Amino acid sequence: MENFKTIIEPFKIKMVEPIHLSSFIQRKEYLKEANFNPFALDSDKVIIDFLTDSGTSAMSSDQWAGMMQGDESYAGASSWHKMRESIFDLTGHEFILPTHQGRAGERILYGHLGGPGKFFISNTHFDTTRANIEFSGAEAIDIPVEEGKNPKEYHPFKGNMDVKKLEEIILEKGSANIAGVILTVTNNSGGGQPVSMENAKAVAAICKKYKIYYFLDCCRVAENAYFIRLREKGYENKTYKEIAQELFSLTDGAVMSAKKDALVNMGGFLSLKEEELANACKNLLIITEGFATYGGLSGRDMEAIAIGLREVFEPNYLHYRITSTTFLGEKLREMGVPLMWPIGGHAVYLDAKELYDHIPVDQYPGQALVCELYLTGGIRAVEIGSVMFGKYDDNGKLIPAPMELVRLAIPRRVYTQSHIEYVIEVFDKILKNKHNAKGLIITEEPKFLRHFTSKFKRVE
Ligand SMILES: *Cc1c(COP(=O)(O)O)cnc(C)c1O
Repeated sequence: MENFKTIIEPFKIKMVEPIHLSSFIQRKEYLKEANFNPFALDSDKVIIDFLTDSGTSAMSSDQWAGMMQGDESYAGASSWHKMRESIFDLTGHEFILPTHQGRAGERILYGHLGGPGKFFISNTHFDTTRANIEFSGAEAIDIPVEEGKNPKEYHPFKGNMDVKKLEEIILEKGSANIAGVILTVTNNSGGGQPVSMENAKAVAAICKKYKIYYFLDCCRVAENAYFIRLREKGYENKTYKEIAQELFSLTDGAVMSAKKDALVNMGGFLSLKEEELANACKNLLIITEGFATYGGLSGRDMEAIAIGLREVFEPNYLHYRITSTTFLGEKLREMGVPLMWPIGGHAVYLDAKELYDHIPVDQYPGQALVCELYLTGGIRAVEIGSVMFGKYDDNGKLIPAPMELVRLAIPRRVYTQSHIEYVIEVFDKILKNKHNAKGLIITEEPKFLRHFTSKFKRVE
């Protein structure tokens, strides 16, 4: 396909799921009923759902065929052996534990290694990773590179970890107190930005020097491998899978949410090199997830993961995946929509503070954009700003988040080019009506994770 500008979806559609189209008048009513929080909307009231790329992938006909062969035996199922083989081939880690999703693996591994007085260090801990670490009593320290904190400036590997800081923190805290170093590829919370092989190697060398466990949070390892092949010297002639295998070879273990790059709707795993650590984790797995050969998954789920982990490395799939995300981001940028640059692997992050510079941060410009996207085009997105991360000072005044972003996360193999073109057209209207967008105030909120269930009112 290299001589054509048009990138086509490398699949055709065998089964369809209707999208319920709605009118502006209907959506106005729905949004009011949802108290201006799209998390409260039923999915049949959404036209394009960009809430998350997690567990929202479309499975292939091969995966569905595999589901029919699911071996539902309690112990030693053939489906487990297929899943194990697929993961071992990729990671080279001898000890593999299936889990029902990513956070279950995190709880087991980081719960076991963590505890009061311990530290984990990451380019950026994903929120469930941080929560599991903090729940154990340990502390989670984020050290993304400086370039990663600047949303506008181009850098090929904004997901990198600051290795100078890594060594400083190890020396400051004492290497015995560092429970593990976690490299998240791609860096989800940092905008889906990739990590370079050079950086992954530098982190490995430091962990080796100080005898510290080095883990990969590998939810989007295939997408990261695409960027390495595209942007890093010396990797042009490697396959995506070889690049991923090299990333894994540097580590002591990995945790994966299969809901991302394993192209399934539910599942995960934990893989480890060391037998002793694996045995301790296996005991915890059996107590809370399930026996060691299914760990919370059905045989059919394990079949689908085994196949998905191979499909995700197909060059035509990955090319389509990354270029279609980039296509949306570049078009929006050309139209003048402020956003994080360059575009990451799985999502486009919009800068709502800049777009709606007439809305003060304590009236949540990100939430305002989320509401406008829904009202205008039935698009559901998520605010990643002061609704999600804002706190209050002692006088009840908002301490805003550093950025007011809105994430458009693209489900894998779900939407076609015309859906994306529709989204672009919706943004045309968003830009034209930008001065009419109104801020919001919170009328009801829970103590934790308030973005999920808060209620809002428009400032008229
Ligand atoms: C999704 C995700 C997780 C958690 O996985 P779940 O399957 O949602 O429990 C952990 N780390 C990263 C980087 C993720 O994107």
